[in-house]
Amino acid sequence: MSDFTVKDALALRVGEGFRLRDVDPASTPGFTGGEKKLDRAFDGPDDELKDLQRMLHANALREDHTGAVLLILQGMDTSGKGGVIRKVFKVFSPQGVDTVAFGRPTEQEQAHDFLWRIRQHEPEPGRIVVFDRSHYEDVLVHRVQQLSPADEIERRYGAIVDFENGLAERHVRIVKVMLHISKEFQRENLAERLERRDKHWKYDPDDITQRLLWDEYMEAFEIAMTRTSTDAAPWYCVPGDNKDYARMVVKHLLLDALRSFDMDWPEPHFDVEEERRRLAES
Ligand code: AMP
Ligand code: MG
Repeated sequence: MSDFTVKDALALRVGEGFRLRDVDPASTPGFTGGEKKLDRAFDGPDDELKDLQRMLHANALREDHTGAVLLILQGMDTSGKGGVIRKVFKVFSPQGVDTVAFGRPTEQEQAHDFLWRIRQHEPEPGRIVVFDRSHYEDVLVHRVQQLSPADEIERRYGAIVDFENGLAERHVRIVKVMLHISKEFQRENLAERLERRDKHWKYDPDDITQRLLWDEYMEAFEIAMTRTSTDAAPWYCVPGDNKDYARMVVKHLLLDALRSFDMDWPEPHFDVEEERRRLAES
């Protein structure tokens, strides 16, 4: 059995007085041990996760008891958002999962409020949805690169909290994760993207522009996370230099979100005995 538990993952929650500089991106809070043990901790929740997803789907068909899970992933370039989606979501049936990546807004999207394009992807009951970047870009890159006026950014923190509270009222369990990497780790990752022909497509010259503003980004993250970490939609700051650790943590956070529905298999809407009899006679 794995030593890492949901409780360890929940300990990474962002609370009052949170300071990003107190989190070492190379650390692995709650976990000690080598690769093998990490693999075990990663695989540990799989059977339960599979069952919970099937139950979430089964219950979505009922009007009185439905919910969905929304995982929001944020982090600097090369922080491993794609890897989390690739590795962690492997455990789920692809039929029940939606992934949405939010890049630079189109002209049409820019003509609307920043939440407009996000609302089009509100999770449907029974589904597990992951956002690869999100409405948080509108208070991160927008703040750092001054893409919006300060008072508009100020308004957005509150608008985000309202929006997420609304989702939670509609039974969406929201898990927000910042994959927190070090600047040095990013340098290595970007170097690899430049060295390998099969990784060039991932490289974006703008990554360097953002990298030059590293400290400003960290400040923007800290502010965004402290101002929007609520009971309905808590933030977790997950150290990301050890990718396998970060992926393992995200799995445990999803496990907690799914468990919190306290689900059971839905009651059949037919008489089981009667149907057995009918089948035997058919
Ligand atoms: P990637 O996820 O690496 O493909 O890059 C997407 C890029 O789109 C990143 O540089 C983001 O900062 C940028 N981006 C995402 N959402 C927004 C937004 N709302 N406004 C401006 N830039 C954004
Ligand atoms: Mg990129």
